[in-house]
Amino acid sequence: MDQIKLQYFEDLLWKRYSELKAVEERLLGEGGLGEPAADAVGELSSYDQHPGDLGSELYERSKDLGLLETTRSQLNQIEAALAAIENGTYGVCRRCGQEIPEQRLEAIPETDLCISCRQDEEVADRSDRPIEEDTLERSLGRSFEEESWLAVESYGTASDTPEGE
Ligand SMILES: [Zn+2]
Repeated sequence: MDQIKLQYFEDLLWKRYSELKAVEERLLGEGGLGEPAADAVGELSSYDQHPGDLGSELYERSKDLGLLETTRSQLNQIEAALAAIENGTYGVCRRCGQEIPEQRLEAIPETDLCISCRQDEEVADRSDRPIEEDTLERSLGRSFEEESWLAVESYGTASDTPEGE
């Protein structure tokens, strides 16, 4: 990619970066996620509010948290793209090593995957995730069962003694 194009995408990335930074600051700002959850809820409950209002406040909060997470991961991607511009690796797919079409970079300047690799990863993501969660759940369930069995057993032993005497 030539210098003029690189400069163009760098400008685009910085513009996007400052926009996302503003979103992050707004989310962390006064009355937002910057305040501890306990305080925000405590303040609310000191007013005579319906539980529904509190629920929607918590809902708003979790929605904001999701947005904050997305914003931060996008910021990270943009930082990585800016670093790639400096290293001269910008616009190259990290998976297949092909150049990412400029049309795609125009739409998502922070991307480091070409369309077909992006689709491949999405498919891999979808088929991987449930298996991981399933395995995790199963192993957690097993250890929990073992722990509660041990707890019951030691409880039984302890309470047997006074009754026998
Ligand atoms: Zn690729």
